Amino acid sequence: VRFQDFGLAPEILRALNEQGYEHPTPIQAEAIPVVLQGKDVMGAAQTGTGKTAGFSLPIIQLLLAHANTSMSPARHPVRALILTPTRELADQVADNVKAYSRHTPLRSAVVFGGVDIGPQTVTLRSGVEIVIATPGRLLDHVQQKTVNLAQTQILVMDEADRMLDMGFLPDLQRIINLLPKQRQNLMFSATFSPEIKKLAGSFLKNPVTIEV
Ligand code: AMP
Repeated sequence: VRFQDFGLAPEILRALNEQGYEHPTPIQAEAIPVVLQGKDVMGAAQTGTGKTAGFSLPIIQLLLAHANTSMSPARHPVRALILTPTRELADQVADNVKAYSRHTPLRSAVVFGGVDIGPQTVTLRSGVEIVIATPGRLLDHVQQKTVNLAQTQILVMDEADRMLDMGFLPDLQRIINLLPKQRQNLMFSATFSPEIKKLAGSFLKNPVTIEV
């Protein structure tokens, strides 16, 4: 399999070329076509497998396919939300998303706690299609009305097992309640505990299970 075989936009392929990626990893080869079809995914994958590109690349492609060319911030609603348990992971995922989308008009922002909320507020207000966030700080922004999630079409929960371990379940439920009912859900977890299965059962719709 080659990245060219997935029907990704030339802007994305160019970024991958610049990243030096030659071939998709196994999880990318499995996940990219499934996400492009709009299906929900339950992915069992550790870090280091390339799971970040496995969900980011098809999300960028899906958002590009339904691009909004207006430059007005009000016309840049959040369309994809990626939740992570820690600021480190949020930062890593955001760096990846920015690299893969650098030749596209899509804009992204990363928000996490423990730092000044001001600069994040400015970025969110400027209008971004992709938000990468830890749950608590995202809810702070929701409360301050700097972010509106009512048009979010795609939700990713990365390292869902760690989010549960860290006690984020109530925050996750609050966030999910703010999203449209009609949306695509992707969940990644290193382990398949009963709690993870329960979470998957409560918010994924007929998920395709991907294990590598
Ligand atoms: P992840 O598991 O998503 O944290 O990715 C692990 C590392 O592999 C990151 O440094 C990625 O930049 C890199 N990576 C992801 N996909 C590929 C690929 N197809 N070819 C080469 N490196 C990759």
